[in-house]
Amino acid sequence: MKDWNKRTAAVHGGTRRSQYAEVSEAIFLTQGFVYDSAEQAEARFIQSGDDEFIYARYGNPTVRMFEERIAALEGAEDAFATASGMAAVSGALTAMLKAGDHVVSSRALFGSCLYVLDEVLTRFGVEVSFVDGTDLDQWRAAIRPDTRAVFFESMANPTLEIIDIAAVSGLAHAVGALVLVDNVFATPVFSDAIAQGADVVIYSATKHIDGQGRALGGVILGTREFIRGTVEPYMKHTGGAMSPFTAWVMLKGLETLSLRVNAQADSALDMALAVQDHPALARAIYPGLPTHPQHALCQRQTGKGGTVLSLDLRGGQAAAFAFLNALRIAKISNNLGDAKSIVTHPATTTHQRLSEEHRQRLGITPGLVRFSVGIEDSSDLIADVTRALDIAAGV
Ligand SMILES: *Cc1c(COP(=O)(O)O)cnc(C)c1O
Repeated sequence: MKDWNKRTAAVHGGTRRSQYAEVSEAIFLTQGFVYDSAEQAEARFIQSGDDEFIYARYGNPTVRMFEERIAALEGAEDAFATASGMAAVSGALTAMLKAGDHVVSSRALFGSCLYVLDEVLTRFGVEVSFVDGTDLDQWRAAIRPDTRAVFFESMANPTLEIIDIAAVSGLAHAVGALVLVDNVFATPVFSDAIAQGADVVIYSATKHIDGQGRALGGVILGTREFIRGTVEPYMKHTGGAMSPFTAWVMLKGLETLSLRVNAQADSALDMALAVQDHPALARAIYPGLPTHPQHALCQRQTGKGGTVLSLDLRGGQAAAFAFLNALRIAKISNNLGDAKSIVTHPATTTHQRLSEEHRQRLGITPGLVRFSVGIEDSSDLIADVTRALDIAAGV
């Protein structure tokens, strides 16, 4: 299993078959497990074996299959599945930090990640310094001998800046800090984050891993010691576990993940190339475009440019709204990584909570639109987007 390539691991990794030898993974929709004797129950609470479960908040066979499959795909020793991406982000951080600890984080974060770092951790006495994640000098200046962790989104939502995992990890490891990477936009298919230096990799499985808009989920990946020694005790007692049904949805999502995200990334590049010079646009932001300021880093770090592009319309919010409203294929919603193309106006939705000044600092302009490219035919998508841009140009 160890020498399997990603596409093989994503189909077969972690499979556990019951006595019926079913082909498709079974859903063990059970909260608990029956013991043969009181002695067996006692023994299992002291130390449960690999195929022994106690309670679904602690673990479940279907959930364990998902954890083992995604760990194999990511090249991580172990994984803990969570009820949502935010349960994974908040769980990984809270499990390892205590009052007085220092964390350095990139400023360009998904709104809920920003809330956890800026408003929750600080309430419990954790000091958090924010930096421009693309500026290594700022990381260098902010990381101190007492820094316990660094946190960043490897591809920032929605401005698509790329953070250099290897370089930031080098700075963090020099002081013994752990590197936690929210890797949603890179997906486990394009990620090589652990080999590049990340200690902990976090996904919202809600996005590409399900990829069909059905279920919320998340996962924390890392060393066996970190996952079972630090994360599991915290998560199992605080209740952020993934449900068995969700784990089954995510397991089946992993099987097709590579096919979907490769097709999505290829279409995203086609679309970026087709629309980059459209007169309605001030900028087409896509890390796979040679004009992206971090194109070379993106190629080195993830290969392809991901499944999302951001379009900055010259006509501001009015043009952005006209564009959204004119689209016939892409749906206005706030998920991403879905089989369906989805378009979002961050300034008025996902990043509405931020102050105008903060949005400006992150480059979330009134004209910025985030376009998550689905698996539809790319020529249909490009025709739809071009037609909507033509309409937006007249606003
Ligand atoms: C969506 C998202 C999350 C949160 O995931 P949920 O499953 O919605 O809780 C965290 N980080 C990033 C970068 C995301 O895009």
